[in-house]
Amino acid sequence: MQKRIAVLGLLVGLFACGTPNQQIVSNLQVEPNRVLAKNIILMIGDGMGLGQITAGMYANGNRLNLEQFPVVGLQKTYSYDNLITDSAASATAMACGVKTYNAAIGVNKDTIPVQSILEEAALKGLKTGLVATSTIVHATPAAFISHQPMRSMYEYIADDFLKTDIDLLIGGGYKYFNEQRKNEQSLLPKLEKKGFTISSMAKEELGDIRLSTVAKLAYFTANDSPIPEATGRDYLPKASIIAANFLNRSKKQGFFLMIEGSQIDWGGHANDTKYIISEVKDFDKAIGKILAFAKKDKETLVIVTADHETGGFAINPKSSMDSIRGAFTNSYHTGTMVPVFAYGPGSELFSGIYENTAIYHKMRKALGFDRVVEEAGSNN
Ligand code: MG
Ligand code: ZN
Repeated sequence: MQKRIAVLGLLVGLFACGTPNQQIVSNLQVEPNRVLAKNIILMIGDGMGLGQITAGMYANGNRLNLEQFPVVGLQKTYSYDNLITDSAASATAMACGVKTYNAAIGVNKDTIPVQSILEEAALKGLKTGLVATSTIVHATPAAFISHQPMRSMYEYIADDFLKTDIDLLIGGGYKYFNEQRKNEQSLLPKLEKKGFTISSMAKEELGDIRLSTVAKLAYFTANDSPIPEATGRDYLPKASIIAANFLNRSKKQGFFLMIEGSQIDWGGHANDTKYIISEVKDFDKAIGKILAFAKKDKETLVIVTADHETGGFAINPKSSMDSIRGAFTNSYHTGTMVPVFAYGPGSELFSGIYENTAIYHKMRKALGFDRVVEEAGSNN
């Protein structure tokens, strides 16, 4: 590609008046130097369509941190076997770059495991982490680290956390890791052997942990699913910035972090406008913390998107900014495209309309992972 541009430049230079050498230099500059991202923070609002974002924005005094993003795109969310995706297939699309069947976790349509971007990042020496307001074995975070044919195989998904060199996990679902497991004994000793400090919200506040003494962190925010923001959950913005700073401690390596606002989707399933609004506002607070981190860091690509829309949520007539009258078409997901917001090095890759699987390829490109393959002479 670069050679072709150089030849073109040479031709243009020869036919143009003036010194050929100067002409070549200016033509080569047409190809901009691709600035690589050292870190990626991917933030997924589960079920966060445009309606949900708009309702959250108006209910928040017509302001969201999301408005600061310079690049906006749209992604098509359909799965391999259904125009209406579930969170497992859509997370697998973004994490692994393949369209698969609904309920699949990190496997393709034939149930064959596909390496995720988090796994590739870990193998390449980057720090990695997952933060969620659901259980940490729930479909969205699971697709980044696990390979199972069915999303409901929670204890098998928990087992898979031991197979990748992940550095941080914060979310619910303690019962899938500790002595409450049905399949076999507790995974906690194995996690500790891998260097994890294990703690939980029941034991201590996240902010009270002396992270300077911690190699890897597993922090469980609930035994099962964490509670909604409206009934007292308040860890997501805090956990998001703690996670980014924790993974950024070794400034050399870079990191990949996925943060999920899991319960926007649950508000949609419940056809509960207030639930949606409080979860969008909470997620946007986390976005604000991460944007502040990225602005200072300058080497972090931040992507905010959804896995699909939930509920066919609309803002109906007789709404005002103080009082949103939400309406729903159903209590499951819909097939509408969802927005993608990007900031930082590589953000320009995310404008336009594309498949959800393209998010995976764009992230690899932004981290320069595709270059490594080219240089290694692979014929992919
Ligand atoms: Mg989810
Ligand atoms: Zn859902």
